[in-house]
Amino acid sequence: MEVTMDDKRVVIVGAGLAGCLLATLLGLRGIEVAVYERRDDPRASAAERGRSINLAISARGLAALGQVGLEEQALSRALPMHGRMVHDRSGARSFRPYSADGTRAINSISRTELTRALLDVAAKTPGVRLSFGCRLTDVDLATGELRFETVDGPRLERADVALACDGAFSAARRAVTFRAGFTFSQDYLDHRYKELTIPARGGDFALDPDALHIWPRGESMMIALPNLDRSFTCTLFWTAEQFAALTTPDEIAGHFREHYPDVAALAPNLVDDYQRNPLGSLATIRAWPWVHHGTGGTGGTGGTGGTGGTGGTGGTGGTGGRGAGATLALVGDAAHAIVPFFGQGANCAFEDCVEIDRCLAETGGDWAAALASYERRRKANCDTIAEMALDNFVEMRDRVNSRAFQAKVAAEHW
Ligand code: FAD
Repeated sequence: MEVTMDDKRVVIVGAGLAGCLLATLLGLRGIEVAVYERRDDPRASAAERGRSINLAISARGLAALGQVGLEEQALSRALPMHGRMVHDRSGARSFRPYSADGTRAINSISRTELTRALLDVAAKTPGVRLSFGCRLTDVDLATGELRFETVDGPRLERADVALACDGAFSAARRAVTFRAGFTFSQDYLDHRYKELTIPARGGDFALDPDALHIWPRGESMMIALPNLDRSFTCTLFWTAEQFAALTTPDEIAGHFREHYPDVAALAPNLVDDYQRNPLGSLATIRAWPWVHHGTGGTGGTGGTGGTGGTGGTGGTGGTGGRGAGATLALVGDAAHAIVPFFGQGANCAFEDCVEIDRCLAETGGDWAAALASYERRRKANCDTIAEMALDNFVEMRDRVNSRAFQAKVAAEHW
C-alpha cells in the first residue's frame, strides 16, 4: 500500500537497540523523528564495566538488522557459536551442536559495537534527529508534552506519537501505570547476575570460541560468550544469598577452585572482577495494552489538569497542544522485558520495530491503525518467549545433561 505520512510529530524515547533501529526504519519511510536518550553518546565514551558486554544475536535479530543494511556488518564483527560446551564440576567438557549438521550458529556480538553501529546508521538517516543527555521524566498524554531533564535544565517537547523504547524500567510507561485497564507486572527472580572476564591467553582464546560455554550447577550456573579481543565474558547467575556469602578474596577464590576449577585457572582477575563488578537484577515485565491514547486537552495555554475519564495522568499545564492528545506505544523491553536465558530479548525488541514499520506500510501510514496491529500481532509471541526464557533457566542450570534437554537444544535460539 502506498504510504502517505501526515505531519504527526514523532518522538522516540531511548536510543538503545530498539530506539535506534526504529528511528532508522521510520526515517527510511520518510517520517521525521526526534530521539531522546538519557545517556551521553556512547560513540564518544567507553563501555560500562560489567554490564552485558556481548549479546547472542540469532537469525531473527539479523533479519531485522538486515532491514537497515546492518546484517553483513554485524556478521563480520560476530563470533559464531555452533553449539554449547558444557563444563562439569571436574572441569571436563562436552560439546552439543545447535543443529544436527553442525552448520547453524548463534552469534556473539558486542553490545557496545552494535549500539554504536545502529546509532551511526540512525544519525545518517534523513529525518532522524538524535539528542543525548536528555532523561525523560514526565509524559502528559492529554497535551502530548514530554519533559526531559538535561544538564542545562528542563526541556519540553511535544509529540503526537511517543514511542517508548526506554527499556525495562521505562519512564514513559509511568504515564500510564495507573490508568484504568492497564495491566502491569514485574516479576523478579531470586537470581541476580554478575560478569567476569576470562582474558586472552598468549594472544589466543583460552576456551573454544565456537561455543556458548555453560557451567550448570543445579540451583545456579555460569555462562561465557567469546569476544573479538579473544577474551570471554562470563556471567554468573546465582541467588542473592550465594553472592552475599562470598566476600573475602579467599572465599571467592576458594569457591571457584571448588565449583568452577577450569575457570579459576583461566581468570587471573576473578577476585577483583567479583568484588568490583555490579550485581544486576533479572525480571520479567508484562504490560498490556502497549498502546495508549490521550483523551485530548483543551490545547493552548494554561493546561487542563489531566486526561480525565480513564484514570488521568495529571495535567502539567498547557503547551499549545492541538487538543487531540498524544499516542504512546511501548516497544522492546519497555513492553516485555524477559530474562536472558533464551538470548532473545534484543531479538524480540528488533522484531517489534520491524513489525511497527510493516504495519505502517500496510495501513498507509495511519499511526492509530498501525500501532493497534503491532500490539495485536506481537503480544502472543512475546508472552511465549518470556515463558520459554524462564523455563530455559531451569533447563540450563539443572537439566542440561539430560537426554530430553539435548534433543531440545537443537530448537533453541532460533
Ligand atoms: P535497552 O537496550 O535497555 O535501551 C533503552 C534505552 O533507553 C537505553 O539507551 C537507556 O539509556 C534509555 N533510557 C532509559 N531511560 C530513559 C529515560 N528516562 N529517558 C531517556 N532515555 C532513557 N538479548 C538478546 O537478544 N541476546 C542476549 O544474549 C541477551 N543477553 C542479555 C544478558 C543480560 C545480562 C541482560 C540483562 C539482557 C540480555 N538481553 C539479551 C536482553 C537485551 O539486553 C534487551 O532485551 C534489549 O537491550 C532491549 O532493548 P531496548 O532497546 O528495548 O532497551
